[in-house]
Amino acid sequence: MRTCAAGDCFRPATQGELCAGHAKRKYRHQPVAGPLAEVGRTPWQRLVDAALKYADADSDEAFARASAVLRKAAQAYVSSRARR
Ligand SMILES: [Zn+2]
Repeated sequence: MRTCAAGDCFRPATQGELCAGHAKRKYRHQPVAGPLAEVGRTPWQRLVDAALKYADADSDEAFARASAVLRKAAQAYVSSRARR
């Protein structure tokens, strides 16, 4: 089976040339490029990924975006801990 035509996506292309997640984006007229939000990851995994992206940011724009993502991931992690 072919993989999704969008960017770095390796999900199987089940909707024409796109995976289900990217096809939904197209249907909603959202930008198709870019990774989908990962589901099934824990808040900790998202926080670690966000921290790595933050450390890897190589431009002001990427840094600003990574900073916002990291802040959100940190808040999500803290609130996930508070709910236990
Ligand atoms: Zn896709």
